[in-house]
Amino acid sequence: MAYFIRKEDCVNCGACDPECPVDCITEQGDVRFIDPDACTSCGACAEVCPTDCIEAD
Ligand code: SF4
Ligand code: SF4
Repeated sequence: MAYFIRKEDCVNCGACDPECPVDCITEQGDVRFIDPDACTSCGACAEVCPTDCIEAD
């Protein structure tokens, strides 16, 4: 299981990035992307997302 970002709702604000303890959120084009192999599903990123576009798989 991993968290993922709904691309259509991500505004690339960057708020999620520094919250990730395993640093698996990167910029991909004009949105952020979560590496599903590295994500530990802690949920920290989802709590700060202003558009609520980060969901558990
Ligand atoms: S759920 Fe946790 S480990 Fe996964 S991307 Fe978000 S902050 Fe990083
Ligand atoms: S916090 Fe939400 S809107 Fe901002 S970059 Fe991360 S996923 Fe996108």
